[in-house]
Amino acid sequence: MLTRLPGVHPRTCPICGYHGKFRAFGVPLVLDVMCAGCDSLDRHRLFALMDDRHKILGGVQSMLHFAPEEILRKRFSRRFPQYRAVDLVRADVDEQCNIEETKLQPESVDAVFASHILEHVDDRKALAELFRILRPGGKLIAMVPIIEAWDETYENPAITSESDRDLHFGQYDHVRFYGRDFPRRIEAAGFHVTAYMATPLECVTHGLQRGEKIFVATKP
Ligand SMILES: [Zn+2]
Repeated sequence: MLTRLPGVHPRTCPICGYHGKFRAFGVPLVLDVMCAGCDSLDRHRLFALMDDRHKILGGVQSMLHFAPEEILRKRFSRRFPQYRAVDLVRADVDEQCNIEETKLQPESVDAVFASHILEHVDDRKALAELFRILRPGGKLIAMVPIIEAWDETYENPAITSESDRDLHFGQYDHVRFYGRDFPRRIEAAGFHVTAYMATPLECVTHGLQRGEKIFVATKP
């Protein structure tokens, strides 16, 4: 195992163009997942590929980026004239912002990027709030950990301690584990949802998680 940590098979990064071995990363450890050129992870490369193909963020001027990942923050801040990196607690952002109650004007944002956020918060509140602040035609880009084999999301009001959350939901600050009803939960807030996935060959070439989806929720 240790000999495989620096990388097993050469991969290609669609973000920085690096070709070569990708490092292992994560808990539990995933092999061949962190680009040695730009430190991107599988989900960042998946988004870059799908955005390129489907023009997910075409026409966007203003973006709100929650818990910004540096690799995407650099790209987005160059690309969108009104870009704001936000977070509930981090100091290295443009402003602090609670996704459940942003205090922003209604219909004031073109796009919201929330990767691995909704499993940490009251998602019904957050989705209603994002629906409120997005312009008609505006988009929420959401990624979360999902167990596709489960019909329904696992929530359990008895689980409240950090240790129990880690045991039940996979991380000390996660409050549920989503099943394949995740897009229906987004639609319940009024959005139309489209899911994008990479092909099996793209997963091999770019070091992506097989079957991982990007959900794009559009406000009608
Ligand atoms: Zn890269």
